[in-house]
Amino acid sequence: MLRIFICPKCYNFRIVSRNPDAICFHCGAKLHKSDLDYVEFIDMNEQERMKYKENFIKRMKMFQNEVDSILVEQEVNKLG
Ligand SMILES: [Zn+2]
Repeated sequence: MLRIFICPKCYNFRIVSRNPDAICFHCGAKLHKSDLDYVEFIDMNEQERMKYKENFIKRMKMFQNEVDSILVEQEVNKLG
């Protein structure tokens, strides 16, 4: 079964068949599995793909901010 993966660094899409550890061709980052399936993906036009990508970028940034704030908290706790 084909799955759609997306790169967390350069946000390129890649279609992957049954490889759980997909790597980005562009930057070598470990890809994230998207919630799109192949049929959905090929039905999307360029604009819809861009929109999906933007939402993914937003989610990644939110996640990164959360990780950063947890790390900052841990640093503060160490100092205290
Ligand atoms: Zn990449």
